[in-house]
Amino acid sequence: MKEISREVISELINMGASYADIRLHLRDEQEHISTLNGSLKNYSLETKKGLGIRVLFDGAWGFSSSETLTKEGVLECAKRAIDKAKASSKLIRYPIVQSPKEIVKTTYKSSFEIDPFSVSLEEKLNCLLDVDRKLSHERFDFWGAYCSFYKREIFYCDSEGTEFVRSLMEIDGGQFIMAKDCDGLNQRRSHGLWLDSEGTSGFENFKTERFDQAQRIKEELLQILDAPLLDKSKMDVVLLNDMMALQTHETIGHALELDRILGYELSYAGGSHISLEDFGTLKFGSSKLNARADGTVKNSPGSIGLDDDGVKAKNVLMIEKGILKDAITSRQMVVEANALAKREVFKESGATCRAESYNRMPIERMNNINIDFGSDGNFEELISKIDNGVILDTPRSWSIGSNRENFHFACEIGWRIEKGQVTGVVRNPSYRGESLEFWNALKYVGDQSTWKLMPTFNCGKGQPNQIMRLGHGVPVCVFSNVQVGD
Ligand SMILES: [Zn+2]
Repeated sequence: MKEISREVISELINMGASYADIRLHLRDEQEHISTLNGSLKNYSLETKKGLGIRVLFDGAWGFSSSETLTKEGVLECAKRAIDKAKASSKLIRYPIVQSPKEIVKTTYKSSFEIDPFSVSLEEKLNCLLDVDRKLSHERFDFWGAYCSFYKREIFYCDSEGTEFVRSLMEIDGGQFIMAKDCDGLNQRRSHGLWLDSEGTSGFENFKTERFDQAQRIKEELLQILDAPLLDKSKMDVVLLNDMMALQTHETIGHALELDRILGYELSYAGGSHISLEDFGTLKFGSSKLNARADGTVKNSPGSIGLDDDGVKAKNVLMIEKGILKDAITSRQMVVEANALAKREVFKESGATCRAESYNRMPIERMNNINIDFGSDGNFEELISKIDNGVILDTPRSWSIGSNRENFHFACEIGWRIEKGQVTGVVRNPSYRGESLEFWNALKYVGDQSTWKLMPTFNCGKGQPNQIMRLGHGVPVCVFSNVQVGD
């Protein structure tokens, strides 16, 4: 199939295409297992193969995909792609030009010790049931554990000469509990597997405390059920890694996707309050904020070696000491944005163009949108600096302005801080703010001991919708004078 792919690329250039690429999924497997109240709840195993062909003709994209992995099938798919490009070329407003890239022939492989697909279903289920059993309690209504595994082998080639094989292993897992509180309202406490950025992405992660946090979340939910509500007030908030990941995802990540900034996502998931004029000058956050789109972090679902434009992974500093510098970019969008801005806003693609699978067009997607750790101390030292505040953990619900300009997030648990001491759990904690005002209120950034790589497995974007897996490497952070409790 690899040789057929190369031949079809040549054929497309002979047919008048200015560029063509093929993504061939030689192996694409997903397995999901979940338990509920001590029993298996769901099991699914999906295996598929296929390829997607993208063609540039007269400044317009054409795309088609197929599961017929024969020469005839691939040629037919290529013909459909170029026919679509020819039809689109009559309607385009702006002829597509791709920024230059380094031509490479390479491989990328996730590192793992134990392949989850080689572990028996019985062993995987027993691993979940062990945790599930520890979660039960007479006050709880529902509890369970889950895991998901993704394994892919993708061959990519394009008409510029780049070729690679990408072998990916991605893992997800966690546990949750639900119960009615003293007012009869549902409360939830959960824990999702976070990753060791120096580690591996195999089943071995399920045998560590990074997965099994049953005892802790059980004790925390029992405290939540009878805890006082968090009063409406303004105070310092300490965001633990789960909340920092959501905050970063929604108000930095999505706001800085260049296709969204240019208006291509408006009809589905909204636009961005950022404009091209803002790059280089906008004070996005306080001087303690350094944010990056880093595709080079080890052991994250956001790290894939090369993106679906065939550009090698990069570590792009998007916000430096609070000033907006760069965005989440693809080859196509950087050229269009620079032309629209009439200046070079972006030097090159940041290697963040990805498709959910072979049957989708690649678009700008977050890889690892990370916040650099700071020098304001470890967790205990951060807490000791706060006179009146609340620690917030784990998203419960989230609502974001259509241009990512403001937000309202509710959390599973909060702990009040008074005069540098943690004084107790609060129920139904929430906070809200204006995105820029909030990031400019970043007061303290935790040190390396507080930094964790939080994977995200449910990022949706595009029409048709594409669900993407990525990561957020984030420290614990403190924001001053934030509206909480309403
Ligand atoms: Zn998202």
